[in-house]
Amino acid sequence: MSDFTVGGFKIKPGERKKLDIKVAKLYDYTDMTLTVEIIRGEEEGPTMFVSAAMHGDEINGVEICRRLLKEKILKKIKGTLIVVPIVNIFGFNSKSRYLPDRKDLNRSFPGSASGSLSARLANIFIKEIVDKCTHGIDLHTGAIHRSNLPHIRASLHVKETNRLANAFGSPVVINSSIRESSLRSMVVKKDIRLLVFEGGEALRFDEHVIKSGLFGILSVMKAINMLDELPFKPRKKKEVFTAKDSYWLRAPESGLLIGAKKLGSRVKKGETLAKISDPFSKHIDKIVADGAGIIIGRSEIPLVNEGDAVFHIASFEDSKAVHASVESFDDYVSESLNSQ
Ligand SMILES: [Zn+2]
Repeated sequence: MSDFTVGGFKIKPGERKKLDIKVAKLYDYTDMTLTVEIIRGEEEGPTMFVSAAMHGDEINGVEICRRLLKEKILKKIKGTLIVVPIVNIFGFNSKSRYLPDRKDLNRSFPGSASGSLSARLANIFIKEIVDKCTHGIDLHTGAIHRSNLPHIRASLHVKETNRLANAFGSPVVINSSIRESSLRSMVVKKDIRLLVFEGGEALRFDEHVIKSGLFGILSVMKAINMLDELPFKPRKKKEVFTAKDSYWLRAPESGLLIGAKKLGSRVKKGETLAKISDPFSKHIDKIVADGAGIIIGRSEIPLVNEGDAVFHIASFEDSKAVHASVESFDDYVSESLNSQ
């Protein structure tokens, strides 16, 4: 097996190293580094990255990475695992989605070595990490005050990516369109299989989402033969459903959001998902579902202005079966995975 080099550091087969890749010096003369941990197995195999906090306030994935790195089973991997718990180090430190140049890192690819901070960080992440991998899992959450049901977004027309989206095991998979200059737009032209995991809310740890993410990453590692076995008992009935479509329901009026349905709920066409009331209950309106589906995203703040997006609903061939799978997956995750 040949040497594997990241950021100018060599990692030999069987070695595990934490490395600081220099990104930029800030105006207070602090060095900013992209810190990664690399685990190489003794045997050949795929090279996979797991990254989080591409948006600096999406911290759930940082905790997923921390728990992944503690898994004893990583001693037995084939191939190479690169874990990047915090990609947007600048945004993470300021609890912000963005960088100091006000750019969104996930709209800054491929970046450049001489551009502003976001362009430089994007360039280093692609050249030093992504381009060296055969597979990747990028961990995201909803925005501030918005939570997402754990699900995978991927380019499902690629057969192997589709297989891995299913292997991840979260009940819902979405074939979302690719945004220009995003990480996904970079890997579609290359031979790299990328899954984007969405779950939870910005600036929060969500135990169920953390466990779902950890379960999914290890399940994908098994599916690509990086692992021979899983450190937990497998789910008996693993059912994954691909959404046909998804849409946002917006508030028809401003007011207090009352009795909003939960994430993962099954909704029927014409069903009231929440009421909107003024503080004196003199004027009450409703948010009504346009079609059947499952709530995969929702506002967590019970105050809305007219036009605010409140519920993200995905539609499926059989919403009833998806809802049953979401519930049984919730039970499985809370009973089977106890890692802290
Ligand atoms: Zn994100």
